[in-house]
Amino acid sequence: SNIFFRPIEKINAVLESYPKGIAGFKRYLEIMDTEPEIADRPDAVSLSNVKGDIRFEGVSFGYERNRNILNNISLSIRAGETIAFVGPSGAGKTTICSLLPRFYEVEEGSITVDGLDIRDYQLQNLRKHIGIVQQDVFLFSGTIRENIAYGDLAATDKQIWEAARRASLDDLIQSLPEGMDTVIGERGVKLSGGQKQRLSIARMFLKNPPILILDEATSALDTETEAQIQKSLAELSVGRTTLVIAHRLTTIQNADRIIVVTKDGIAEQGTHQELMVSGGAYSRLHQLT
Ligand code: ATP
Repeated sequence: SNIFFRPIEKINAVLESYPKGIAGFKRYLEIMDTEPEIADRPDAVSLSNVKGDIRFEGVSFGYERNRNILNNISLSIRAGETIAFVGPSGAGKTTICSLLPRFYEVEEGSITVDGLDIRDYQLQNLRKHIGIVQQDVFLFSGTIRENIAYGDLAATDKQIWEAARRASLDDLIQSLPEGMDTVIGERGVKLSGGQKQRLSIARMFLKNPPILILDEATSALDTETEAQIQKSLAELSVGRTTLVIAHRLTTIQNADRIIVVTKDGIAEQGTHQELMVSGGAYSRLHQLT
């Protein structure tokens, strides 16, 4: 259920035309900033101010012909709202979120961002407004600075440090002899899982997108690291429309709305309190854990 993994597979053919040895970085940019398979509509627009209202209207989608994973999904998300998708493995939580940056194309129905169909945005522009944080953090061989700036050549040193600070990465960076210029990755300093996640969070503070997709970690971090990361993520999601692909129930209790996705679609939605009281699928999921 890695939101990036499948698209990477998908564009492998394209990547093979690149010289060997290109870092993962290139792949990432390839995915988020260009997608050779999808051409922009001739009249596609590029917007600079997006609030992050999201609407799914009658969305159906399947990876294979005649086998829909999503059937007629409708969903309205207000700008700034934090939504958590929960439900059994394979129900389609990741799939729903993959459609928003157009990793896959909706076959029926539509998705709009700020009232505009996502197919009416220039793809690069659409993806500029969406940040993805996931457990398999995408680092490339290079310095910490480059990894935080992440292709943004206009990022100033001050902005990069500010992003590191907000992700609680500044102490670590200051403790390294080469600081921001420390090389990480295969030939450099190895970062722990938690440090990598914080680095990806720092990236997002710098990118500053109005919409966030958090693909929640399934692998365990130690409790303290986990708590720090949750704190940084909570700060990151303030003022942004945030879609959490939740694999655990404990981290999402404060979501503005929890959406229970099952194979039959959206089973129920509401706050943690509301769903616990109504005694449906969500409260049953709770009893299981
Ligand atoms: P999890 O909690 O395990 O992450 P999920 O709710 O996020 O599950 P998805 O990853 O969206 O579920 O998968 C929904 C269904 O789509 C599953 O049956 C899965 O096997 C299938 N699926 C996902 N990606 C692909 C793909 N690239 N090609 C074909 N089928 C896929």
